[in-house]
Amino acid sequence: MYDDKNGQWQVNAKCRDYVADLFFPVGSSELAQQQTMEAKKVCSTCEVRLECLEMSLRTRRDTGIWGGATEQERKEMIRHFHVQKPNSNNKASKTIVDTEYYDDIMDYINLGKL
Ligand code: SF4
Repeated sequence: MYDDKNGQWQVNAKCRDYVADLFFPVGSSELAQQQTMEAKKVCSTCEVRLECLEMSLRTRRDTGIWGGATEQERKEMIRHFHVQKPNSNNKASKTIVDTEYYDDIMDYINLGKL
């Protein structure tokens, strides 16, 4: 399952076949909303979606679609799942999303709760 030790999962990222701008919609226009839906569609078929989402939560990516989630949706996840920001001085905090939450997070996304 999740293994981000070397970021190796990125070689299997589905978005590598698309223009990066697709995953960075700007504003809230109809065009931006369409772009968001298109990006999410790509993410929904990506085999490394969970790894991507975890990385984006851990690194607090504040723009773009990562793991199928917008920045606002990730903020909600951080609140909902009490995602901790890693502290480089504390190895114990390195894993920020407990594995027990993985299925819940995916359900959360897939059931459109965001
Ligand atoms: S989940 Fe989406 S943004 Fe993340 S690697 Fe896959 S396609 Fe790219």
